[in-house]
Amino acid sequence: MLEFEQAGYLVTAIFFIAGMMRLKTPARARSGNLLSAAGMAIAVLVTVVAHPHLPWLATLVVVAIGGAVGFLVAKRVKMTAMPQMVALFNAMGGGAASLVSLGSLLHANVTVVGQSVAALFTIIVGAISFSGSLIAFFKLQEWLSGRPITYPLQKWVNGGVLVILAAVVVGLMASPHNAGLATVLILLALLEGIMVVLPIGGADMPVVISLLNAFTGLAAAATGFLLDNNVLIIAGALVGASGTILTQLMSRAMNRSITNILFGAFGKTVHSGVVGTVDDGVVTHATVEDVAMLLAYSRKVIVVPGYGLAVARAQQEVRQLLEKLSQRNVDVRFAIHPVAGRMPGHMNVLLAEANVPYDKLFEMDSINPEFKDTDVTLVIGANDVTNPAAKNQPNSPLYGMPVLNVDQSRKIIVLKRGMSPGFAGIDNPLYTNSKTSMLFGDARDSLNELVRAVEEM
Ligand code: NDP
Repeated sequence: MLEFEQAGYLVTAIFFIAGMMRLKTPARARSGNLLSAAGMAIAVLVTVVAHPHLPWLATLVVVAIGGAVGFLVAKRVKMTAMPQMVALFNAMGGGAASLVSLGSLLHANVTVVGQSVAALFTIIVGAISFSGSLIAFFKLQEWLSGRPITYPLQKWVNGGVLVILAAVVVGLMASPHNAGLATVLILLALLEGIMVVLPIGGADMPVVISLLNAFTGLAAAATGFLLDNNVLIIAGALVGASGTILTQLMSRAMNRSITNILFGAFGKTVHSGVVGTVDDGVVTHATVEDVAMLLAYSRKVIVVPGYGLAVARAQQEVRQLLEKLSQRNVDVRFAIHPVAGRMPGHMNVLLAEANVPYDKLFEMDSINPEFKDTDVTLVIGANDVTNPAAKNQPNSPLYGMPVLNVDQSRKIIVLKRGMSPGFAGIDNPLYTNSKTSMLFGDARDSLNELVRAVEEM
């Protein structure tokens, strides 16, 4: 039976790794997800079959309920609310790992020091991940202010909680079955998770969620050591490693350090409104007819989607415009910045949902050299990822962040509602560039009108 179990877990691990490898390209991402889900189903079945003493019916009922809830939530969630959903799912993972370890510490035969360490580590990290992810969810859902919530001596209070936490850990190492101390430990860890995430701004939440996701992975791997379960160790390590890599990639693409994101708001007064320099240049307005004419008679067009496209839910309209222009033999490509939108892969998912062909999507590094040979770049609800100040204004907060070379294009059309800044809260000199014209309005309305105008030409 043991061999059957280990062989089943090995197959699961292969499914997980093969699934993750398929996530590398949008075209194979769906099948990658299905493969990983199949791996998880195998793991659950193998566990139930290999442990006949388990209440298998109850296990399968619980799995079915959890699976059904997950399926319905994922089906119904709006693309703009995806980060919240990931935060909730992550909270569940952290909370589950924490509770399993608490149970093992209190009731099972945790006799070896290494096992106590693994159990205590998981209880703490899992609980921090649970409460921190819930705060991230509340902030993204706007049930809590998205502003950094700070108060005097915050660092000291957080540090103080950590010191008490360490003292409780020492107590539990000496008497692992002390239920009172274990309860205090889990409550303190929950409090720490809340207090660490409260001072972080709502817009930084996707990075925080990715980091907490890495924590949850580590907690799951430690639970695997505790329960002597190889598949948990492998799955936890995969989540921990991928969460860490994703966190690093996101912070690098935003040109910010993780410490700056996590502790940037501590001890600072929070200013609202626009930061940075205001350009005195002239903003040129365009009409739908001007833009339609320009696009229809171009040879090469690059579309730059951004967060505003997600807000306007205009992905279907973008595909319609692509079709109309392609019928006129215009070469249309999409430039995808790694942090466009509010979560990694946001634009890929959005455009895939509207069946925009994958071979039309180009990553930043491969499309950047092409802007200089492009007749028109159509910026749809993107702002920071196009800001040339990141390249040429050393005093700009964005300076150093890799951006799309939109300013090199022959003509630039920007679709947005007004002159509001993007996530970074700074002005964009692209809008006052002499090559730029602004088509103001909700992106979906503007695109609808553009599709109609191109059609009538
Ligand atoms: P931005 O947030 O810079 O800009 C979005 C723009 O969309 C706004 O200026 C807004 O202007 C416009 N907009 C909003 N709603 C609409 C609408 N209905 N129709 C048309 N326009 C609209 O987005 P980017 O995608 O350029 O940049 C992403 C930013 O988010 C980067 O700074 C990145 O660092 C950050 N970030 C990204 C994460 C990720 O993983 N992708 C994670 C965390 C942060 P107006 O209101 O005038 O219309």
